[in-house]
Amino acid sequence: MDNDCIFCKIAKKEMQTKLVFENDDFVAFNDIKPVSPTHVLVIPKKHYKNLFEIDDKELLGKLLLAAKEVAIKSGLQDGFRTVINTGDNGGQTVYHIHAHVLGGRFHKWPPG
Ligand code: AMP
Ligand code: ZN
Repeated sequence: MDNDCIFCKIAKKEMQTKLVFENDDFVAFNDIKPVSPTHVLVIPKKHYKNLFEIDDKELLGKLLLAAKEVAIKSGLQDGFRTVINTGDNGGQTVYHIHAHVLGGRFHKWPPG
């Protein structure tokens, strides 16, 4: 737990946020500034800054499976995008690892 980490506060339910998914290891909630009709963030309950900091293969695998579960629960059977931004050049703004689950529209490649 990082005392100043807003996502730790959400995971510990110290900050009121509607969860769209929860299991033993993860919670998921709607992004505050959605860029797609569905835009959910999946975060581990345990604090890791980003991909550079995590070597736990099992937890990383479970993160993707949780993202898939969120996508299916959100009705994104037509497809979805999963994004993990890492570090400043990766566009990371919140330093608690999270997977974006984006859906409900076509997502072009490469992204802008
Ligand atoms: P990233 O740029 O990959 O670090 O993404 C961080 C995301 O967290 C951004 O899309 C923000 O809109 C989102 N965000 C920041 N604070 C909150 C919050 N309190 N609740 C929900 N989403 C948030
Ligand atoms: Zn955290």
